[in-house]
Amino acid sequence: MKQLRDRVQQLAQANQAQIVAIRRHLHENPELSFQEFNTAKFIAKTLREFGFEVQEGIANTGLVVVIKGKNPSKRTIALRGDIDALPIQEENTVSYKSKVEGVMHACGHDVHTSSLIGTALILHSLQAEFEGTVKLIFQPAEEKAPGGAINMIKEGVLQNPAPAIILGQHVCPIIPIGKVGFTKGTVMASADEIYITVKGKGGHAASPHAAVDPILIASHIIVALQQIVSRNTDPLKPCVLSICQIKAGEATNVIPEIVNLSGTIRTVSEEWRKEAHKKITHLCQSIAEGMGGTCEVNIGQGYPPTYNHPVMTERTFEAACNYMGHDNVHYMDMNMGGEDFAYYAQQIPGCFYMIGIQNIDKGINSFVHTPTFDVDEKVLEIAPGLMAWLALHELAVSED
Ligand SMILES: [Zn+2]
Ligand SMILES: [Zn+2]
Repeated sequence: MKQLRDRVQQLAQANQAQIVAIRRHLHENPELSFQEFNTAKFIAKTLREFGFEVQEGIANTGLVVVIKGKNPSKRTIALRGDIDALPIQEENTVSYKSKVEGVMHACGHDVHTSSLIGTALILHSLQAEFEGTVKLIFQPAEEKAPGGAINMIKEGVLQNPAPAIILGQHVCPIIPIGKVGFTKGTVMASADEIYITVKGKGGHAASPHAAVDPILIASHIIVALQQIVSRNTDPLKPCVLSICQIKAGEATNVIPEIVNLSGTIRTVSEEWRKEAHKKITHLCQSIAEGMGGTCEVNIGQGYPPTYNHPVMTERTFEAACNYMGHDNVHYMDMNMGGEDFAYYAQQIPGCFYMIGIQNIDKGINSFVHTPTFDVDEKVLEIAPGLMAWLALHELAVSED
């Protein structure tokens, strides 16, 4: 196994410059969720130039590549990378800065995509060294509900051949370059969107008695909603509720008719998630009614919590230690972000791990979804190699 590991590391190193060039092309040409048409064309073209057969047009802009080892009918495993960007104006001054006004790869999906191409190249070179089949899934639209994963699953990416497990990774700006983090069990939260419309009766600000003030009702609702988190949630199960938008009113002296509120609720338990939706609706409506108004609540179902299979995660953790050294692999707490990798992990055992990209000395320290987000490109050697190594390990796992 040591010899194989050395080969993976050598290949990862030899391919790095190529993978950096691919990442930079993706970074300069970002596309929003569900619109990754040129991105998909570029991925397909790049993979074909390397000699791969590519299935395109899965859930519109998704792609799949299958790499067969010696006994392809043995275990099949899946590796997933997401390909979409965000509506953010890049503020970095790097040579590979986004060329698209207001769109940026600020979540590192350019890294996930290029890294997965890197993993494909390594596994392609080692085809004679493993048994089974690897399915690489390039998935669109992670950043926007309902997401790309659910449609790719509907269109059969987990069939023919059916993978036994799935691995995914995310760049992590709080982990230094060269290190990697794993979480057993729930790794990411559910993320649902809350839309509340409070209706009152508009009027002159000097005659509030003749009106029903929806701003006052909305204010009570915003404060009361926090009790869902502080008084109704099991304190041992993380839950966040944030109201992030308030829209109402046009003048200093007019009580408006309507207030629109919106926000997000994130949690880790499917049971509590359903219960919380009911409680939010009931609380908002009773407050509005008690104050003479009405209230409509719509909760847009986002992604479910992402669950890392504990046994598989332990296996991958050990394999990562073997590749990176024990000092560079850690267990870490879950985070309250959402991920549509969750849908794959509902179907088959999954492990979604966090790969370090932070380099304080180089000033690379910005959080994902910010205009100054960037990565230490050393990750484009580490991530493809690590994923290839983890894949080789999972292929060697016996089914019984
Ligand atoms: Zn993101
Ligand atoms: Zn992301």
